[in-house]
Parts: sequence; C-alpha cells; structure tokens
Amino acid sequence: MGPSVDVVPSSPTFPTSAEVVVIGGGIIGVATALSLVQQGIRTVLLEKGTVAAEQSSRNWGWCRRTGRDLRELPLINLSMQLWEGMNERVQRETGFRRCGILYAARNTEQHQRHQSWVREAQQYGIHSDLLSPEQVRQQLPQLQGEAFGGMLTPLDGRAEPQKAVPAMVQAAMELGLNLQQHCAVRTIERAAGQVSEVVTEHGAIRCQQVVVAGGAWSRILLQGLGITLPQLKVLSSVVRTHPVDFDPGPCVSFGSVAMRKRLDGGLTVASSAISTADITLDALKFSAQFMPAFWHERKAIRLRVGARLFEEALHWKPGQADKHSIYEAIRVLDPQVESDIIPQIRERVSKLLPALTPLPIAQSWGGLIDSMPDAIPVISAVESLPGLFVATGFSGHGFGIGPGAGQLMADLVLNRTPSVDAHPFRLSRFSDGEKIKAQFWL
Ligand SMILES: Cc1cc2nc3c(=O)[nH]c(=O)nc-3n(C[C@H](O)[C@H](O)[C@H](O)COP(=O)(O)OP(=O)(O)OC[C@H]3O[C@@H](n4cnc5c(N)ncnc54)[C@H](O)[C@@H]3O)c2cc1C
Repeated sequence: MGPSVDVVPSSPTFPTSAEVVVIGGGIIGVATALSLVQQGIRTVLLEKGTVAAEQSSRNWGWCRRTGRDLRELPLINLSMQLWEGMNERVQRETGFRRCGILYAARNTEQHQRHQSWVREAQQYGIHSDLLSPEQVRQQLPQLQGEAFGGMLTPLDGRAEPQKAVPAMVQAAMELGLNLQQHCAVRTIERAAGQVSEVVTEHGAIRCQQVVVAGGAWSRILLQGLGITLPQLKVLSSVVRTHPVDFDPGPCVSFGSVAMRKRLDGGLTVASSAISTADITLDALKFSAQFMPAFWHERKAIRLRVGARLFEEALHWKPGQADKHSIYEAIRVLDPQVESDIIPQIRERVSKLLPALTPLPIAQSWGGLIDSMPDAIPVISAVESLPGLFVATGFSGHGFGIGPGAGQLMADLVLNRTPSVDAHPFRLSRFSDGEKIKAQFWL
C-alpha cells in the first residue's frame, strides 16, 4: 500500500462542460489546473483514483536542480521560485524547505561528471559547490564510508509529497476548480477535427481543450487517439522510518542510499542505485529508442520478466466510451516493493549510519516512474489534434519540476508567451528527426 496522503473531498456536482479538462490528479495535473484557475479559466480536473495516490505521493520529495539534464534547468529554476512561494500561494503547508541537496560520488568517474555539471550549470545561474572527500565528510560527519568527492547545491530543497499536492488542489478548488475523483476518463472524443469532449465513467464533459497529465497511463490514453508516446515504466521502492533524532541536513545520496528528513521527524530512504524495469510489449516495441539510456544505466536497472508482461498484454488497452475500462479496474497503480530492496537498504544504512541500526522502518512502498527515452518530459500541444495537450513522462524528476511544468503547460493552453522555452519538451521530437539523447550526470 502507498503512503497515506492528505484527503481532499471532490466537488459536489459533476460538470457537463468546461473550458479546459485536465486528466490526472498528480502534481502535474494539479499544478496545471492551479495555474489555469488563477487565470480565471473554467477548469475540471479528473482523477480515476484519488489525488496524488500514484507517483506524486510515492516519490522521495527532492526538489532538485543538482545534476539535472541541462535542458530542464530553466524549468526547474522557475519551479524552485514557485516552490519558494507555494505555502503562501496555497495558504497551506507543503513542506517545502531549502535544505540543500548533496550527492556524494561513488567513484572518480562520477566525480568528474559532477565537475562538468557544476561548470555547465553556472550559465543557468545555479551555484553548486564541488566538495573534496574531506569536505563531504565534514558535511556529513555521522556517515561512515568512502566518498570520492561530492556536489552540494545549497538552495535546492525538499517538500512533502503526501501533503503538497493535496494542499495545491484545495487552493485551486477555492479558486473555482471542479475536482472529480473516482472518475476515470475512458476516452477523448473529437468533432470537426478537434477535441470536443472527454468521456468518463460518469458521463461526458464538453470542452475544446484537454490536458493529458496521466503519468504512467498517458501512453495508453494517447494510444487510444492514435498518438504514439514512447513511454515505459520503471519500478522504484521507498521506505519511511518512524521519527528519529538523526537529520542529515541536506537531502543526501551517499553510498547508494538516498535519504531526507521528513516533516514528521522520520526519514524517507531509498536505494539510489537500483530500480527494476519489466519486460512488456511496450518495452520490446520501444527497445531501440530506450537502448542508449538503458545501456548507460545498465548497472542500476534490472530487467525482469514477470506478471506485468501478461497483465499489460492482456488488460492494458485504450478505453472505449461505453465500456468499463482498465482505468476503472486499477484505480491506483500500487506495485509491490522489490522484495530484496528493503534488506539491502537496511544493510547499507547499518554500514553508513551504525547509530540508526536497526533502521526503524514504519512503511515501504513501490512506485512506477514514467520514463521517456531522453529522460526529459513532454510538455506540448499535439499537432495532429487541435485542443489536445500533453504533460507527462517526467522520468523520475516531476515532483520538483511540477509547479514550473504546470505553469508552462498553462501557458501553452492559453497560447501566451511561455514562461520558459518549451521547444525541448515538444512531443514531435520523437518524429521530427531530432537525435534523441539522454544526459547523465549523477
Ligand atoms: C519512487 C519514486 C521516487 C521519486 N523521487 C522523486 C524526487 O525525489 N523528486 C522528483 O522531482 N521526482 C521524483 N519522482 C518522480 C515524480 O514523482 C513524478 O515525476 C511525478 O510525480 C509525476 O507526476 P504526474 O502528475 O505526471 O504523475 P502521477 O503522480 O503518476 O499522476 C498521474 C495521475 O493520473 C491519473 N490518471 C491516469 N489515467 C487516468 C484516467 N484515464 N482518468 C483519470 N485519471 C487518470 C492517475 O490515477 C494518477 O493519479 C519519483 C518517482 C518515484 C515513483
């Protein structure tokens, strides 16, 4: 089961029309909806389960510029500004704190990549300190183990995934957002060559603009419209501890363990070195596009043949207006934790932090990260279907970048000057001949 997320009641009445319908109540859909209602746009947000029940509550909570793909830096800079004012904007606690983020290098090659990134990031106004092994030790005196140097971005931060998105959606509702949960979108209809309505399990909503922010489901939502989105899913597991005295200060990746302090006094801990990718029909279909990224990450990603192959092949089909759909069958994507990861995390933490042995684990959960071949998102209009927009594929970075991505998506929907250049995030990059490449710095 996933972490417990602050509960938000749905709006009392089901709408029959809207200026914009946003599909997906994760941070991207919610941030988009918040930006739209702040501009006075009549917006409906549809969520098949409950707000933030999938990736947006299951993530580590890092709001990170450190080590990001350079193409994302203008957007994450915008996002950090928005995080800074978020508590005030939504009049609620999102848990955002500028605690800093520190990556300790696992080897000299990684330290060299960190050096290059720190140099490149300066042109985007980002200040990160390169740390010697001795300086890493001074920053983290409680942690045992070897580091080959590190990089620290003091103005990076963290927020609380189980609180932030509910806080944002409540603020949007106060500005007029209509939120419908347990309301799966089955399909999007078109008329006269453009979007005309969204069909849900509870009825249709007329609209001329739709934003698909469906996280790991965006691929099949778009497939139903004949649009190919090369998106796969990667499983990652997380633990939460009971409150502990220990506070690492910044969010830390050290010795293959990632941890941060939580607002409730506990720690969120994960392996920063291992995740699992299931072989599925989509994985086979998109294997050539994902191969460069996979090859680079081959030590960190385990391939697995298991139940997901058959489940997806048999059941993950685009919805039809008049039929019960997969989105109603799986209200919340709740993958099982990788069974060997928890013992690994315990063992690693006991070596790094003997004082925290045994690690007082309160809960663990899995999350499926929606990933693109170049590990940057799609935030884009869909050229082949006027009125359709997509914001998805955040490849493990979407929580921190969410507020900025939502603002950018709203800019595109409203056809106003984009807050940052949206060109790198266009959907058509997968078909217009651009050489697709991922950048790895961490
Ligand atoms: C373990 C883990 C750790 C991570 N750590 C970090 C981190 O530290 N920092 C960071 O920046 N990012 C991190 N991420 C990534 C981040 O969580 C995601 O990029 C981000 O939450 C994606 O938000 P989203 O709104 O696109 O998707 P989601 O949060 O997955 O939301 C999509 C929503 O759409 C809904 N939906 C889908 N289809 C339909 C439909 N047909 N009808 C109605 N609703 C539908 C789903 O139910 C879901 O609620 C992590 C992710 C994971 C899993």
